Parts: sequence; structure tokens; C-alpha cells
Amino acid sequence: MLFDSIVYGPIRSRRLGVSLGVNLMPTTAKLCTFDCVYCECGWNQPVSHPQLPTREQVRAALEYQLSTLDVQPDVITFSGNGEPTLHPDFLGIIQDTCALRDQYCPHAKVSVLSNSTQLGRKDVVEALLLCDNRILKLDSAIDTTMQLIDKPVNQHLTVAQIVQWLSLFEGNFTLQTCFLRGEYEGRVIDNTTPEELSAWYQIVDILHPKQVMIYVIDRATPLQTLSKVPADEMEAIAAPLREKGIDVIVSA
Ligand code: SF4
Repeated sequence: MLFDSIVYGPIRSRRLGVSLGVNLMPTTAKLCTFDCVYCECGWNQPVSHPQLPTREQVRAALEYQLSTLDVQPDVITFSGNGEPTLHPDFLGIIQDTCALRDQYCPHAKVSVLSNSTQLGRKDVVEALLLCDNRILKLDSAIDTTMQLIDKPVNQHLTVAQIVQWLSLFEGNFTLQTCFLRGEYEGRVIDNTTPEELSAWYQIVDILHPKQVMIYVIDRATPLQTLSKVPADEMEAIAAPLREKGIDVIVSA
């Protein structure tokens, strides 16, 4: 499923409420630094000259929607057809969005769903710090599993590197993890084993995010062998964190 516009919705999001979406990636193709086995946009395809919207096009599309909507959104969410922080004008776009939010819907939050791969860029970190919610992905604390589930384009990317970047936010972010099971090219995918969870809890302890968001696959996935983790198991994964006082959102 691809979003065919820059601004879409508002939609009622499982995790965010009434959400006005913003897609900074092409409207005809997915563009991402991951190729997650569960991606609702499908597998990455070769894109020779990706057409990204300009900063001015994003500002104009967002202003039009915000000035004509009947319902005020709870949140303006950057997500869409790939990784939003890949946009070269991401910082300027976030600055424009915060200004439009202040003008048209001052109670709405500005949120970014990101796969964390661009956190080595200062402009991306600066932009994310302007947002109300930074929702940053880490699907496994074990390198081989992260590589298997997320299939990063940079095959040298490590969990340690992502954790180092995430620590820049000093806990002021939401850590998001998709729990799933399945099989890919003869290898078992399961980030809910005791070994996986033990490593993941340790990372949560180190990063101490202000919120943890865990969720299951919800729509069609490019890999057909995946299965949902049952809701009671998701609650059991959340329980030890809640006992420590961490705010955990479970979407199961
Ligand atoms: S990071 Fe998001 S957009 Fe990119 S492949 Fe994974 S699920 Fe899809």
C-alpha cells in the first residue's frame, strides 16, 4: 500500500489518535533505508530518480489541509512511503510544520515515525528535537535478528550504532518495536524468545525512553509467512517495563 499524496487523512491511528499524515517520500514508490519484512508499503524497488516533494509543496499541502479540515487532528504524523528523515529538507519542513501547527491547531502534536538510521545527521537530530514525539524504531537488540527483520540497506549497521544514536535523546523519545514471528529464506524470525527479550529489556534499561510502543503486524505484509504475536503475550512483554514505571503502549 502506497500513499498517493503528500498529506493524507486524517485517519484514526491505533497508536496516535486522529492523525493527519505527511508523506515526504515519492507518491509512486517506497524509499527507505530499511526493507522490513513486515513493511505495509511492500518490498523496496529500484527507484532511479526519486521525485520528492519540495519544502514549499509540503508547506502548501499542509496549510491547505489544516485550513479546510472540519476536525482538528490530535497529531500531525510524518510517516508515509518510507523513511521521512531521508528528505534533504527535513529540518526546514519540520520548522514549517511547527509554525503551521501553532497557527491552525495549537493543541496538535508533531510526531515523526522514523527507523533511526539517519540519526548520525545533525540536521535530523535537530529536527527531531523540535517535534513533540520522536517515535524511533529498534526491532531487536541482537544484530542478526535486526538484520533479518529490518534488512537495512547498509548491511554494516549495528544495534550498538543505533543505540549510540538513540542515547543522544537522553530518554526523551518513544522506542517502538514490532514483535513478530515467521520464517524468511529458511531462517526463523522470532524477536519474542527469552534471549531476544532479555537483550531488548537491557537496551530499554540503558536508553530509558520516556515511552515504549510495542505493536504487532496489522495489515498485509510483503513476507507471507509472518504471524501476529497474541495480545496476551504482548501484555506479558510489557509487564516488566510497567513494573519499573515505564509508560508502555501495546497495539495488539
Ligand atoms: S522502516 Fe518503515 S517504511 Fe522502512 S521498510 Fe521498515 S516499515 Fe517500511
